[in-house]
Amino acid sequence: MRPFTFQQAANELDAVRAATPAPGGSDLRADGATAYLAGGTTLVDLMKLDVMRPRTLVDINGLAATHGGIDADARGLRLGALARMADVADHPMVLRDYPVIAESLALAASGQLRNMASIGGNVLQRTRCSYFRDTSYAACNKRSPGSGCAAMEGVNRIHAVLGTTSKCIASYPGDLAHALIALGSEVQVLGPNGPRMFPFAQLHLQSADTPETETTLRPGELITSIFVPAGPYTRRSTYVKVRDRQSYAFALTSAAVALDLAADGTVRDARIGLGGIHYAPYRAMAAEAALKGKLLDEASATAAADAALRGAVTHGHNDYKPELARRTLVRALLQAKAKEI
Ligand SMILES: Cc1cc2nc3c(=O)[nH]c(=O)nc-3n(C[C@H](O)[C@H](O)[C@H](O)COP(=O)(O)OP(=O)(O)OC[C@H]3O[C@@H](n4cnc5c(N)ncnc54)[C@H](O)[C@@H]3O)c2cc1C
Ligand code: SF4
Repeated sequence: MRPFTFQQAANELDAVRAATPAPGGSDLRADGATAYLAGGTTLVDLMKLDVMRPRTLVDINGLAATHGGIDADARGLRLGALARMADVADHPMVLRDYPVIAESLALAASGQLRNMASIGGNVLQRTRCSYFRDTSYAACNKRSPGSGCAAMEGVNRIHAVLGTTSKCIASYPGDLAHALIALGSEVQVLGPNGPRMFPFAQLHLQSADTPETETTLRPGELITSIFVPAGPYTRRSTYVKVRDRQSYAFALTSAAVALDLAADGTVRDARIGLGGIHYAPYRAMAAEAALKGKLLDEASATAAADAALRGAVTHGHNDYKPELARRTLVRALLQAKAKEI
């Protein structure tokens, strides 16, 4: 690992100040000079692999007392950026009112990682594309802009089928983000120009046009919390994850589903996020629209799944993904329907 300097932020202003370029200076984030350190379970791995090369780490774990809370009221659920994955997954109110969030976290990583890793760091995790993570491969536009994409003709079994370009076919690896995007969540950030709030759907760039830039965060911006608005669909929600083994593995495909159903099973509202298949966290709005006003059964769920996967482009090893994703979504919809709430 390359040498770096280490600073501990005492509060959020301290953190942002430490991570913000001096006036007239270069963009510290763009040249990799500064990074926030939360649980470190992504960042430190990538530093050891020499994929991320920050010269300064700003440790934000001292903010946990002020930015690690899990609070809910009639308007919704607020998750502090420093809340740990395990604490959110096990929180009784999250389990009862937002099960899709609890399940997406409980099915992610391992117990040890969930104890360490934060919500802010989780949504900013980077792709598991092997060519990105192994610097012995020269061609990776995400790591080295303009160098090409080794995965295009290489081993691309875990890669995306939607949102890709000729520059990058990486898939977004996380679980929680698909639940957050499905529920119309918002991100609160603090930057050198003060706080701002914006839809979670705008946090990640949805297309791989500039693979080296993955988010819309501005230099120095710190995620402080995530807000999930309450809705009549959050309780009837679930997360289905399909993976190579039953624990401690990333999703091949996944579906985050939340439903508001009439007594006869007609869909009043549907929220759907799909994992494993897209370049970024993906809200399947075409599938949601296909379901609204329909009686939810295997036929309507399948039609919605077809709508979600329309336009999928595969690259050989990942030819299986569209069909697996369709079946994952159908299963999640029928499971959510059958749920006792
Ligand atoms: C073996 C293994 C298996 C895994 N399996 C899964 C899985 O199945 N599903 C899944 O979803 N995840 C999985 N993960 C990923 C894991 O969940 C993430 O590594 C973790 O959530 C990242 O959180 P962290 O707090 O450790 O982030 P860090 O590593 O500390 O940070 C990650 C990135 O976010 C930035 N950052 C952190 N916090 C903030 C903030 N508040 N504001 C702005 N920037 C910030 C950091 O600078 C860094 O760039 C796995 C990881 C490993 C190592
Ligand atoms: S898919 Fe993206 S991350 Fe993977 S090698 Fe290609 S450019 Fe790099």
